[in-house]
This record gives sequence, C-alpha cells and structure tokens, in this order.
Amino acid sequence: MQFSDFSLDKRLLQSLGHMGIETPTQIQQQAIPVALTGKDLMASSKTGSGKTLAFLLPAMQRVISTKALTKRDPRVLILLPTRELANQVYSQLRLLVANTQYKAISILGGENFNDQAKALARDPHFIVATPGRLADHLQQRHLFLEGLELLILDEADRMLDLGFAEQLKAINTAANHKRRQTLMFSATLDNQQVNEFAVELLKEPERIAIGSAHSEHLDINQSFYLCDHLDHKEALLLNLLNAEQHKQIIIFTATRQDTDRLASKLKETGLNAIALSGELKQNTRNQIMDSFSRGQQQILVTTDVASRGLDLLNVSLVINFDMPKFAEEYVHRIGRTGRAGAKGDAISLVGPKDWVSFNNVQSFLHKTFELSTVAGLVGKFKGLREKPKQTLRKPKANKAKATNKGSNTAGAAAPQKKRDRRFITGVDVGDAPMRRKPQSKLQETPED
Ligand code: AMP
Repeated sequence: MQFSDFSLDKRLLQSLGHMGIETPTQIQQQAIPVALTGKDLMASSKTGSGKTLAFLLPAMQRVISTKALTKRDPRVLILLPTRELANQVYSQLRLLVANTQYKAISILGGENFNDQAKALARDPHFIVATPGRLADHLQQRHLFLEGLELLILDEADRMLDLGFAEQLKAINTAANHKRRQTLMFSATLDNQQVNEFAVELLKEPERIAIGSAHSEHLDINQSFYLCDHLDHKEALLLNLLNAEQHKQIIIFTATRQDTDRLASKLKETGLNAIALSGELKQNTRNQIMDSFSRGQQQILVTTDVASRGLDLLNVSLVINFDMPKFAEEYVHRIGRTGRAGAKGDAISLVGPKDWVSFNNVQSFLHKTFELSTVAGLVGKFKGLREKPKQTLRKPKANKAKATNKGSNTAGAAAPQKKRDRRFITGVDVGDAPMRRKPQSKLQETPED
C-alpha cells in the first residue's frame, strides 16, 4: 500500500516525499481511510508508530478539500497533554502546511499569553495546543470554536490522568455542533476513564487498536515476588533496592498517598528519592520530571501519571510496588525501562490485593511467570485460588486463567482453608472514577 492509494491532495504527497516517507505504517493504513470518511475514531497506537501523520494527513485533506464552516474560526484543533508532545506534533504539521496556504500555530502552557492572543487573532486554520492554556483563551474569548471541523485528542488517557477533563469538556462544549468530527488517540483503549469520556465526546466511533501492548518487552527482565502485607512489601523493596546497582529507578504505587509516604520512607533510609503524583500542579510535575531526567534523583516514586510519554533513557529498573489496575498499564509501566535497546529490569510485588491484576497481566501477555523469592523474606501468601467476585473495575482482559505448572509458578496457588474478606475486594480502585457534569466550568490551567 502507498500513500497515493488514499486519494490525498498531491501537495500532501509531495510533502511526504520531502520527508522521505513512502509506505504507510499500520496505524496509518487503518486510521487514514476511516478519518477521511468523516467518521469519529478511537484508536490506540504507540508513540513511534506514525500516529501523528495518521491524524495530520486526514486533517490536512479535510481542510484542503472542503469549504470552511465559518470565516475566522480554527478548522482543526489538536490537543496534547504536554508541551514536548505538542511541539513534536507541531513540527510535523508545519512541514505539511508549508506546502499550502494554510496557517498553523501552537498554543502551549508556559508561553506568553498575549503573544498567543495576537496569534489567535490572525485566524489560524490549525491549532496545536495543551488543553489548559487553550481553555484559558477560550474563556477570554480569544477564539471561538463554532467553526471547528476536526477535534483531535492525542494521548487522551494521559490528558485525563493529568486532570484535564474539565478543560476538555469546556472545549468540547464550545465546539459542539453536528458537523464536527473527533479523533481520539490513547495509549490504551482498555481504560474506564477514556471510555467514559469517549461516550461523551465521540459519535459512534470506529475503534482501532494497533501496536498491541501485548507485544513482549524482550529487553526487560521481569520478576515477581509474593508479599503478605505492606510491611512485607517495604522490607522486600529495601532488600531489592540494595541488592543491585541501578542507574535510575521508577517505583509505581497504587495511590497518591502511597507515593508520598514511600518516597519519604526511602529518603529516611538515605536513598535519593522524589515523589510525583497527579495532584501536583502541572508546572511542579514538569519540574520534578525535569530534575529526575537530569539525574538529580535516583528514584522516582509515582502513580500511573508517569507511566508513558517521556523517554527516560537512564531508568534501568521499574518496580511495581502495587500492581496496576489494568494489564495494559503494566506494559506501559515496565516500558519506562529497556528503552532504545538497553536492558532493563522490572520487579513486581504481588500481595493479596494485587493477585487479580497479576493474573490479568499473565493472561494479557499469554505468559505464566515464575515467582522469585528473597531468602529470609518469604511470606505466607501463595496466591488466591478463586478470583474475587467483586471487582469494582473489571478489566477486559480477564478471561484466561494462569496455568498450573508446579509449585513454583504463579498459577499454582496453594489451597486456602479460609479466605480473608480483605482479599475479596480484589483490585485496588485507586482514584475515584470521573463524574460527569452537565455543564463544564473553565478552571485554572494546571500547567501555568
Ligand atoms: P509518531 O509515532 O507519529 O511520533 O512518528 C514517529 C516518527 O516516524 C516520526 O519521526 C515520523 O516522521 C516517522 N514516520 C511517520 N510515518 C512514517 C512512515 N509511514 N514511514 C516512515 N517514517 C514515518
């Protein structure tokens, strides 16, 4: 298949030629035809898969081949969670518009607000933005979205993780008309918040899942330790941290409170750790990530807010202090190490509350993991035989059961005489599910 098969404007094909891009990637092959029909789309695809052009090409084609709905409003708005990602998209968009008469601008948090207002007054056709700052301009009436034809949400799951739900809803409301098309990209479609959001924003979207997160991380050595309770987890963690030298380490916890508590605990033992949680303001989060990526701390303790996006080349160990709620999230988390061909380690601590998630990961990856132990720290917990009945968020990939292959494998749970009620609640629900509000109110932008 070639790009010319998509009946794209010849200027776009020329631009692709200049960029040295010839054959469409898998996400491009699947998403471009759907997007060109004007349908809404919900797609999962990794960064690096070519997903930016999978939405930019149909966006350009739409603008080139149809008449604008209004004279002054932007026709395409692309929203991304961070400035870094927005800049990456903006630079690809600029290459495409360079060959046409259309104007593109970027509106990012942290940049001069008045300059942005002036740029908006010049009526750009395309805007690449972070949601907080764009919502601020909307509130100030520096732009109107009645004429918006295409709304693109890239890394939608991450935007929601970062607390942009209200801003996204405000933008959606301002651009709420029948002829609007919405394309939503997310690292995972197996995410309750993303799905709830899609119901609100998208009309009967086509779903495309590419670059399966099931794919193995061959460069990452994965190990799992059973734990009885929190104290046991902490003892194991300290032991494992001291056992081997690592450059940088990311530790994932289930809740924001655990993040702070654990980081303080590690600091008390002399380790150089910092906590990053979703409730911090965007600029504080950016500062923490910057300082960690510059190597100023060895250990970052966080929730899933940091499980994807940034390339942290020095992370050689990822620890799941708690297993993630969704199996796909596990893959994103451990993918923070072993990047660019480097070797990495991933260690997961599996307590009774993590057991369901652990089994989901095994089913999802079609693997049965061996369990590891630390001498002197072997607990009593050997797994649960039955699956808890009462999971509050039921992950989809919950069909297969771990296989039973002998006493030292994960599926070989020892029979339990009496089940502890505490274990039956299963998956830790962590953050409360997003509540729908009928009318959104603009809030202060978190990244400023
Ligand atoms: P993305 O996943 O959109 O961040 O794209 C990652 C990189 O792949 C970018 O540098 C693109 O320019 C490049 N790219 C996108 N599509 C193609 C393609 N069909 N063939 C070769 N490279 C591509």
